[in-house]
Parts: sequence; C-alpha cells; structure tokens
Amino acid sequence: MAGEKLLQFVTRTQAYPAKREAHARAEDFREIAERYGVPAAEEQASRCSQCGVPYCSVHCPLHNHIPDWLRLTAEGRLREAYELSNATSTMPEICGRICPQDRLCEGNCVIEFSGHGAVTIGSVEKFITDTAWEEGWVEPVAVGPVRGQSVGIVGAGPAGLSAAEYLRGYGYDVHVYDRHDRMGGLLTYGIPGFKLEKPVVMRRVERLKQGGIVFHEGFEVGRDATLDELRERHDALLIATGVYKPRAIKAPGIGSAGVVEALAYLTASNPKGFGDEVPEFDDGSLDAAGKHVVVIGGGDTAMDCVRTAVRQGAASVKCLYRRDRANMPGSQREVANAEEEGVEFVWLSAPQAFEAGERVTAVRAEKMRLGAPDATGRRAPEPDPGSDFRLEADLVIKALGFDAEDLPRLFDAPELGVTRWGTLRTDNKTMMTSLDGVFAAGDIVRGASLVVWAIRDGRDVAGKMHQYLKVKAKVAA
Ligand SMILES: Cc1cc2nc3c(=O)[nH]c(=O)nc-3n(C[C@H](O)[C@H](O)[C@H](O)COP(=O)(O)OP(=O)(O)OC[C@H]3O[C@@H](n4cnc5c(N)ncnc54)[C@H](O)[C@@H]3O)c2cc1C
Ligand code: SF4
Repeated sequence: MAGEKLLQFVTRTQAYPAKREAHARAEDFREIAERYGVPAAEEQASRCSQCGVPYCSVHCPLHNHIPDWLRLTAEGRLREAYELSNATSTMPEICGRICPQDRLCEGNCVIEFSGHGAVTIGSVEKFITDTAWEEGWVEPVAVGPVRGQSVGIVGAGPAGLSAAEYLRGYGYDVHVYDRHDRMGGLLTYGIPGFKLEKPVVMRRVERLKQGGIVFHEGFEVGRDATLDELRERHDALLIATGVYKPRAIKAPGIGSAGVVEALAYLTASNPKGFGDEVPEFDDGSLDAAGKHVVVIGGGDTAMDCVRTAVRQGAASVKCLYRRDRANMPGSQREVANAEEEGVEFVWLSAPQAFEAGERVTAVRAEKMRLGAPDATGRRAPEPDPGSDFRLEADLVIKALGFDAEDLPRLFDAPELGVTRWGTLRTDNKTMMTSLDGVFAAGDIVRGASLVVWAIRDGRDVAGKMHQYLKVKAKVAA
C-alpha cells in the first residue's frame, strides 16, 4: 500500500513541468511560479509522500517537523508552515540556504531512495521563512518574566545567537561579546554572500537587538577582559567562540607573499559586500581578479574559496586535493557547483613546495595514491614517487580546516579544561566546562562542524543554563 501511494505520488510529480523544474533547480520558487503560473513551492512541497517514518526529521539535527510543514505548504497554509518550522529553529531561512541537505534531511528523503530526487526541503524552508519576513509574520523575541539575573555570551555566531534568543525568552538579561564589529560569526565573515546574503543574517541580529539583547561589538575576551572578570559581571557565562586556528602546511616557500589563509581571504571578501573599505582587498593582495588561483584542500571552506575566486574574476581556479572525489570531506553538491562554474579539480595531489620571487609564482606538487583505510575508514593517501608536476599560481589559498585556539592561555584561565584537540571539555549532561557557571557550545566543543549543529547546541545549552540559574537563584534567596 505504501509503495502504491509512493508510485501514485511519483507519477503525479512527473506530470507537472513546474514540479520537475522546482525539483531540478529549486533556488527561486517565485521565478518558477511566474513562468508557469503555478505556486511552485506548494508544488514542490506536495511531492512529500508523508511516508510515516520521517527519516528527514530524524536526520535533521534540529529534528524539524518537516513532513508537517511540507503538508501545510502544499495546502497553501504558509503562515502555519512558517510557525511550525520556526518552533524548532532560530534561523530556518539560514539553514534552508546553507545546510548540506544532501548529507542531512534531503539525503534521507524516501523519494530520493526511490530514485526520483529528494523533495527540496531546504528550499521550501527558505521560501516559507522569507515569505514570513516579507509578510510581517516574524514576531519580536518573546521576552520572559524578568528574573534579575544576567548571562554573558562570548561569541556571536549561530551557537551564541541561538542561546541568546532562548535565554532572553526565559527572562534573563543577555549580553553578547564579540571581537568583530558585526555579529553573526562565520555566518557574516566566513560563508560567502552568494550562498548566504548578508542582509538575511543582519535582520536576525537586529531582531535580537530589538528584543533587548545587548551586543558588545569589538570586544575581545582575553584582550578587553579576562574570563574571570566576565564571570564576576554575570551569573553564568557561555563560551561559543568557534574554532579559528588554521591547520598548517609544512613546505618550502609556504611563507611567500601571495600564499594566504582561507579565512583571511574570505574575511577580506565578505565585508566588501557591506561596502566596507578593506585595505588588503583594495590593494589587490586578497583579490583574485585576473590571477591564477590554486586552492589547497577538499572541504566546504575550499569550495567557498574556489567559488569566490571565480566570482572575483580569476584567470584560472584550480583545487588541489590529496584524496579523490569519493573521499573528499566537502559536499558533492558544492563540487558539482564549482565544476559548473569552471573550477578545475586536481585530485590525488599534494603540494611539495611554493616557488616565489617577490610573490608566489607556482605550486610544485606530487601525485598521491590511496592506500589502506585510516582510523576513520577513509583511505589514506600516500605519495606516488616520481610524479611531480607544477601549477602556475599567483594566489595560493590554504584551506585545510581549523582547530581550536588555545583558550586557557588566551582567556588567562589555565583551569579551563580542554580535550586533546584543544576543544573545550564539557560535561555531557550539563554542558558546563570545568569552571562552575561557565558553559560552552558550538564548534569550540565539537570542532569545526555545521551551522545547524551550532543552532542545536545553542538551543540545548540555553535549557541547561536555565536549570543552573534557577537553582542558583533559589540558593541565593
Ligand atoms: C568558510 C566557511 C564556510 C562554511 N560554510 C558552511 C555552510 O555552508 N554550511 C554550514 O552548515 N556550515 C558551514 N561552515 C561551518 C559553520 O560556519 C560553523 O560550524 C558555525 O558557524 C559554528 O558556529 P559557532 O557559533 O560555534 O562559531 P562561529 O560562527 O565561529 O562564531 C564564533 C564567534 O566568536 C567570536 N570570538 C572568537 N573568539 C572570541 C574572543 N576571544 N572574544 C570575543 N569573541 C570571540 C568570533 O568573532 C565569532 O563571531 C563554514 C565554515 C567556514 C569556515
Ligand atoms: S535545518 Fe537543515 S537539515 Fe534541518 S530541515 Fe532545515 S535544511 Fe534540512
């Protein structure tokens, strides 16, 4: 019976050009709706077979009620669909844009298993929440009864912002400290604007400001205050500082001008979208225009760098990665996008040295071959002797991932416990660090991860902090 229902539904889906197109390219439902005169998001949502076992929800870190809001969307009840999707997420339109859906909700859609392509869940989520913003359905932050206790949050990325929203909802005074001049963390300064438009992030931040959350911009903990000083100011603290120490490459010539870090490159490019003056971009050193660009790495950050370089007008863009396509950590969807845009992938290759005069001129590399699987099950690359080659380059971008900074030293808090990877050690049940009343969430606990996991952690840690603060208030009374 379930199979019959699925078959009927798939047949229905194939009948409509709008459904087929919305499925193939669901970025802009409005454009499709205009072309075919049908409400494309509703058509796309109607592809959900309501299959009884919501694998999509199970594999969404927020456990969003996906089939339910797809059904409401299919029925044209967009406001209710938005309200339901908003009930489990502080940033549904952001997740809809930048979650790697092929590894999460959509990758586990039953329609995908049947070979007909997943319902484009992320695009529907984006559409209903964007519509809610346009229609004025997005409510101000609901502030709970005043509790007379205050919370400090270090880091205004998705983990810190989500926790701030929930904690304000519980009625606490919330102060967010961030070393940048704009809030959002990697949403603002890491992820490029062509994937996540910056006004979309800023309107979320503005809503939090209007909800009474106090932002301390340009405030770097470790420089402007020690952790202990902040602990004295607040009843509880959350550390949500992300991970920012770039992984290094050891090779001759690595220090040459024109060999740059991925985040330095993206952090120079993103503020241009706000119209800022960025000297390192404006003087050409971090602008790929007209250059032969080689990006080293195979993760999503590498994909963001290659696609940014294409948009800046690079003469050529190559991505050098030591494993093959099947063994790369980045999203296959992103690789396909990059290839479509003209990026050349040089698989199974690792840099050996960087040739340079005043600036870098070439990367010398050697071919790799895949050996036995390592501890993670991925096949470990090993050099293929005598296979050296050379790539012309006048901008080399290192995108090998990030580790945690040395927070105990930076925060002047040697008693702050860390794992062997340098991430903060927290109690599994309470999410508290080794310091009483100091909690941690997001990448600084997990290591480099995803926005949706940071939001989930922010939601969870706010609940744990609320429990802690209630007990603290009782003891003090
Ligand atoms: C280039 C790039 C692209 C990415 N693309 C995607 C994507 O497409 N989809 C996806 O799901 N994930 C993506 N990610 C991962 C995602 O951005 C992170 O997992 C997520 O932002 C982590 O959230 P967070 O709140 O823990 O930390 P962050 O977003 O890193 O925020 C931490 C904040 O803490 C602040 N801070 C740090 N130290 C201090 C200090 N001492 N004092 C004050 N403030 C401090 C920082 O300025 C920052 O604002 C990407 C990451 C990168 C680097
Ligand atoms: S939050 Fe991410 S994983 Fe969850 S439904 Fe939305 S796009 Fe899918």
